[in-house]
Amino acid sequence: MQKPLMRIPYTGPLPAPTIIPKDANTPTGAIAALTNFLSAPTSPLLPPSAKATVLLTGAGVSVASGLADYRGTAGTYTLNKSYRPIYYNEFVSNHEARKRYWARSFLGWTNLHKAKPNSAHWAVKELGRRGLISHVITQNVDSFHPMAHPELPTLELHGYLRSLVCIHCGGHLPRKEFQQSLTALNPAWAAFLAKMLQTGALDSEHPDERRKKGLKSNPDGDVDVPNAPYTTFRYPSCPACLARPPMLPDGSSSTVQIDADGAWSQQSTAGVLKPAVVMFGESIAASVKTAAEDAIDSASKILVVGSSLATYSAWRLVKRAKERNMPIGVLNLGGVRGEEGFYTGLAANNDGSAGVRCSESADKILPAVVQNLPCGGVS
Ligand SMILES: [Zn+2]
Repeated sequence: MQKPLMRIPYTGPLPAPTIIPKDANTPTGAIAALTNFLSAPTSPLLPPSAKATVLLTGAGVSVASGLADYRGTAGTYTLNKSYRPIYYNEFVSNHEARKRYWARSFLGWTNLHKAKPNSAHWAVKELGRRGLISHVITQNVDSFHPMAHPELPTLELHGYLRSLVCIHCGGHLPRKEFQQSLTALNPAWAAFLAKMLQTGALDSEHPDERRKKGLKSNPDGDVDVPNAPYTTFRYPSCPACLARPPMLPDGSSSTVQIDADGAWSQQSTAGVLKPAVVMFGESIAASVKTAAEDAIDSASKILVVGSSLATYSAWRLVKRAKERNMPIGVLNLGGVRGEEGFYTGLAANNDGSAGVRCSESADKILPAVVQNLPCGGVS
């Protein structure tokens, strides 16, 4: 049996990139090289059916939407040095850990919910319209890609925050609805949130700005509230499990209990909702893993945008592309895990057509690449 693919964080420092071709070290040079990359004909080493480019995106693409990146250019966590993300097993098995997670997420959600796709996402839409991109694989959980270009297939490798999934019955619940339940169940927190919104503490994702106003946050949507009693935080039960308690894996029936206001009670053996993201230590669904591999296998090139490929699940897709002799492009500020292996065997006169590496902001460069492209689609 194949080993399940797990999402694990990687916190090692990454070396600074070697820019390829050399003159892609300015915005103008990067735009020219990426234009050459995207418009180059399919390599004769690949089947002629492989035409368009598959795009692999990460947190760097969402920065211009006001969402903070996990990592600085050296690939290390920058926002909160002591931050440790919640692991799947902890979330599933521990009521206290869930209270903490939801208390923080309750405050963090507003900012994500208000944020919108940026010029990088709109450029991707245009590249798709021109037939230059076949699929988008994203590590982001903000759903900006499907929002910006619903007609261009997006595979959300690490899931999405827009809904919740029940760990017992598999049912989904929109996050917006869940947020309303959290508001009703936690009036003191709701008042605190209202106050923070009023003072503007949540308007900025900048950790220093927030810290000044008593808030510390990380990109998973968590906000640290000093001395806030998250131990009293309440969250709702899965409505489907509550209506009809599901069977447990051992064949016995489950119990789902709620308090007078509808909050999930610790006596329950089912009805636990989890964000529909792949948490650290959680396996990526086999169907998603296969779909991502198929997207790589049917493409002629891969372009990584705004990702340091720090998670193995993303890095291995680029490795797969390399093994298929696909030209690799990387547009990312700062280092990328294992990138020295992506550009072996490139000709000295490569103008970006056979491989490109630049260290620029996606929201500035991608729209300019769209402008720079000759009209028409794939050659
Ligand atoms: Zn359920």
